[in-house]
Amino acid sequence: MKITRISVWQMDLPLSKPYWLSGGRLKFESLDTTFVRIDTDEGISGWGEGCPWGTTYLPAHGPGVRAGIETLAPALLGRDPRSLRAINDVMDLQLPGHPYAKSALDIACWDILGKCSRLPLWQLFGGERPEPVAVNSSIATGTPDEMIALIREASAKGYRTHSAKIGGTNVAADIARIEAISAALPADEKVTFDVNRAWTPGVAVQVLNSVAVRDWIEQPCETLEQCAHVAARVNNPIMLDECLHTFGDHLDAWSKRACEGVKVKPNRVGGLTKALQIRDFGVSVGWQMHIEDLGGSALADTAAVHLASATPAANRLASWLCHYHLAVDPVPGQGARNIGGVATPPSEPGLGVTPDPDALGKPVAVHEA
Ligand code: MG
Repeated sequence: MKITRISVWQMDLPLSKPYWLSGGRLKFESLDTTFVRIDTDEGISGWGEGCPWGTTYLPAHGPGVRAGIETLAPALLGRDPRSLRAINDVMDLQLPGHPYAKSALDIACWDILGKCSRLPLWQLFGGERPEPVAVNSSIATGTPDEMIALIREASAKGYRTHSAKIGGTNVAADIARIEAISAALPADEKVTFDVNRAWTPGVAVQVLNSVAVRDWIEQPCETLEQCAHVAARVNNPIMLDECLHTFGDHLDAWSKRACEGVKVKPNRVGGLTKALQIRDFGVSVGWQMHIEDLGGSALADTAAVHLASATPAANRLASWLCHYHLAVDPVPGQGARNIGGVATPPSEPGLGVTPDPDALGKPVAVHEA
């Protein structure tokens, strides 16, 4: 089997309301996503999506995804899309780094492998059944009362795990947010306080030793070294996210005892192939993981939910679904959706999400052999 054509679409995904991270430092209103369809000489096609969370969250941006695909596509034409390790070797040789530019291509190849083997991705990732995955809410930074109101709204929709975004320059405001939310949270619900790297190590140690937090603290500081410094001086379990890009970063996090869990996001690490390697490492060292994507429609969400669903329950925390924050739905009714607080991956062969190309508009690029 050979790749004969790679078609690329761009779409703006407006958020249903503006979203604030990192104590209000970062604002997001719309995401720039890229859809990819890989066609083969045997008539089987696969779909992928790559959607960084805006331009300020990571060293990644929508136009960069398409520029990367432009560079990578000629080297992929004529290759067998089912040979995922070889496909990733070609991409890494052609364009070292730039993981976010590779994930849509990698996901589309997994979709083809699933369709050829007539198995859903959750099974290719080791799952025995389409295990439902708990979904995670995402609570934008605000005053304690605003954030508690958002958590109550999410609870009413079935969410039992919340990610509350904190982290400002005002230490007292963060202490107030953590204490108010922790006190208001029902006993059967969980909250992770996601700092999105906003604190210096000194602020992190000061805040976390001033409050009683029963759940996780996520990415307190910018770098892995700073987070490891904090982890050694506080009692809370630490989750790492933005500072992890490669398998080597995960190995460093483990060897520096910097965390008890990680976020595994295919777009951040370069696709499902690399996310799977990290997932397996995480299981072997006993990490707890949130497996979800950086952003995108229900297509990108579903790719991550397949991997989450196939992860042992003891190592799997809830998955956030970006598409619930969007004002548009390019794949209506398809894929893993939040039904009563859980999302279940589709069981048809492959990814189980097929966009209607007409609904995506004219491709921005078509690469052909
Ligand atoms: Mg995070």
